Amino acid sequence: MEVLLKDLRYIVTQDEDRRVLRGKDILIKEGFIEEIGNIKGPVDEVVDCSEYVAIPGLINTHTHVPMVLFRGVADDIDLFPWLQEKIWPMESKLTPYHIKAGTRLGLLEAVRTGTTTLFDMYFFEGVIAEEFVNFGVRGVLGQAIIDFGTPECSSGEECLKLADNFVSTWINKNSLVEPSYGPHAPYTVSPERLAEIAGKSSELGVYIQIHLAETRKEVEDLRGKYGRGPIELAHSSGILGDKTVAAHVVWPSYDEMMLLSRSRTLVSHNPVSNLKLASGISPVPDLISLNVIVTLGTDGAASNNTLDMIETMKITAILHKAIKGDPTVVPAQSVLDMATIIPGEFLRWKIGRIVPGYEADIVLLKTRVPWWTPLHSVVSHIVYSARSTDVHYVFIAGKPIIEKGLLSSEREEEIICEAEKASLDLLERSGVSSLLKNMN
Ligand SMILES: [Zn+2]
Repeated sequence: MEVLLKDLRYIVTQDEDRRVLRGKDILIKEGFIEEIGNIKGPVDEVVDCSEYVAIPGLINTHTHVPMVLFRGVADDIDLFPWLQEKIWPMESKLTPYHIKAGTRLGLLEAVRTGTTTLFDMYFFEGVIAEEFVNFGVRGVLGQAIIDFGTPECSSGEECLKLADNFVSTWINKNSLVEPSYGPHAPYTVSPERLAEIAGKSSELGVYIQIHLAETRKEVEDLRGKYGRGPIELAHSSGILGDKTVAAHVVWPSYDEMMLLSRSRTLVSHNPVSNLKLASGISPVPDLISLNVIVTLGTDGAASNNTLDMIETMKITAILHKAIKGDPTVVPAQSVLDMATIIPGEFLRWKIGRIVPGYEADIVLLKTRVPWWTPLHSVVSHIVYSARSTDVHYVFIAGKPIIEKGLLSSEREEEIICEAEKASLDLLERSGVSSLLKNMN
């Protein structure tokens, strides 16, 4: 199967020289980018792209996809009541039925907003993995491990067994899905269990996803209990490394930033979630200057409340300028790299660039709209002016997932209805109130 994206207004290649090409075509063949240039000759399908800017599919390095079911039920409250009165009661009632409906809704939102690869960490990850494959979206998926249990298991030991099963079931099973271990955080998983997980992950060569230093309270509690901060604790348990994703990293010490840098651990910066929960602001310019690998995530939709990476890019770019009092820090090109090339290289996958030989994970943004006009600077428009509703086509491994802005109107309606039903059912079971429920 060949698809020709013809006469693109611009192609943001994200190649070594960060070239932006004008009026060129992209030939997709058997899921890969075959050629870029002025291409002639018969092909199976041609898409007229004269209104579109092509960018590599965005990579969201931290989320909990099914949590879209909790969107809007727990806003404007403190972290602990947020967890204890809303999130945990609902999560305790989750079943594969809710997970499936939530994953579908979350993936629909992710692709509609230009994301083609997500790092997910949750419960019932096997159900989530099936939906990633059905949708045709790439995922690095982590089965969650918590010492006091999850909706699926009653102890850390049991959770770890489930994670072992998940990893062995999905390893090398499908090219879209990479299984991983998801120890929740050093305050919910003991150092001994973290060490056990680190051993398993290095033996099998699989990724680890963990929350680190999200709140000041977590740092203070761990220092009181173990005499070490969360990142030091993860390091001494053998968790840090070039196959580990550390989400948040809002409160690292200087020494901890150096540990992240030396170990080549990937940091997922989640500014919207951190701002909304008032967790603080990650020292991203300092992390970058110490050569830490920094990428972007949305976190779950209970604390964001979207999975919109275009919005996340803009907030990242403007937030750190204000904090540092310096408009030159975290420029647009660096932010786009954090959402494309950097996580692609960390994964050692051929994603995050539009160059021949790479996977055809491509997003086309519609630009004949006021907020893209005049188009003086393509990369800064992507970060500062674009809206996620500009996403008109999304290809993953060469397959068109979104066409003319939609999955297909019937399938979208079905996914939305199912998700509404599943969310109301969950509220019912857990006794959590919502505006929607009160109106019914
Ligand atoms: Zn998270």
